Amino acid sequence: MASTSHPRPIRQSSKLLNVRYDVRGPILEEAQRMEAAGHRIMKLNIGNPAPFGFEAPDAVLKGMIQHLPHAQGYSDSKGIYSARTAVSQYYESRGIRQIGVDDVFIGNGVSEMISMVLQALVDDGDEVLVPSPDYPLWTGATTLAGGRAVHYRCVEEEGWQPDLEHIESLVTERTKGLVLINPNNPTGAVYSREILMGMIDIARRHDLVLLADEIYEKITYDGVRHLNAAGLSDDVVTLTFSGLSKAYRVAGYRSGWVAISGPKRRAADFLEGLTLLSNMRMCANVPAQHAIQVALGGYQSIDDLVLPGGRLLEQRNLAQRMLSQIPGVSVQPARGALYLFPRLDPEVYPIEDDETFVIELLREKKILVSHGGAFNYPSTDHLRVVTLPSVEDLETAIGRMADFLEDYRER
Ligand code: PLP
Repeated sequence: MASTSHPRPIRQSSKLLNVRYDVRGPILEEAQRMEAAGHRIMKLNIGNPAPFGFEAPDAVLKGMIQHLPHAQGYSDSKGIYSARTAVSQYYESRGIRQIGVDDVFIGNGVSEMISMVLQALVDDGDEVLVPSPDYPLWTGATTLAGGRAVHYRCVEEEGWQPDLEHIESLVTERTKGLVLINPNNPTGAVYSREILMGMIDIARRHDLVLLADEIYEKITYDGVRHLNAAGLSDDVVTLTFSGLSKAYRVAGYRSGWVAISGPKRRAADFLEGLTLLSNMRMCANVPAQHAIQVALGGYQSIDDLVLPGGRLLEQRNLAQRMLSQIPGVSVQPARGALYLFPRLDPEVYPIEDDETFVIELLREKKILVSHGGAFNYPSTDHLRVVTLPSVEDLETAIGRMADFLEDYRER
């Protein structure tokens, strides 16, 4: 009989042993401790538009409020019909005709669909090719599903475009999928047609599923056009992930989707598994699903934020300029998304542990950024800076970072 005087500790499952998600790890806990002690922290660490004064379009709020009284029950597991139709029509308007209503699964954010897709796709020991740096959920969810995330290089000097030769060299018999994040978090890269065609070609030749995370697709700068991977081939099974968290600024609603295109018959068994998992969680939050049709069906441009004079563009410009003026710091221009991924020259800043470095910056200057290691980047010489704060706040925050780095150089 079990003793009550020494109850066994309750431990996390061994499945979590190698699962990491350091963008919300010890650094954030330290920031929370400091805030509880009365410090005001400037947060340049999470891509959450609302707290920085980016409000959702009125129609999106109204769509949700109006439907609230009728959204009390579960919906179809894959999502309400109007939302799935809106997603299908949205892709059709982008020239992608193969995504029907039944090819769309609505989830509680893209996050839920990433985890669900990897659970449905990956067997123990299977490999998924993931960019480095990455959005760390891709690596964490692959590991949790029993697979192995194999990281491919993106070339900093080439604006962080993926290295096709490296991707090709990593393919093995166990490789199931190829992840692309475009526009990219954390680098801000937007992939060229040539690179996308190269990735599609690799997926085609090795029978890989292409997993295209395009949640930032509307957020591009400098006249750069985003191309949907699904629009560039019809013979590769492509899963396109997107949602309302970023361009529609309602990250808290948890509203996203995955849309399947390409030779779906080849993927019938996988889709059966995905449907089972979707059924098991009943459905996504129904009120937030009602925001999808009004978002995608209404005025969709975010030109007022990303064209000259637009807030997001001005903030990116300022952050890019200020960071690149710090001695020993270089930064590739972000062509999209909400982030910069500056490099701190190791000759000037010999950082041994980038997480400790970021915690020191936090303690001394009350600035919260993320360390490159949190994005599965192999060296300790990069940081991720979020460009959502106002120009004034970015000026203060990066000014304080520059002071910290000056002290560091003089150590
Ligand atoms: N994919 C990328 C590349 C992201 O940056 C994020 C959030 O930051 C997500 C997915 C998750 O988005 P959601 O809020 O839809 O779960």
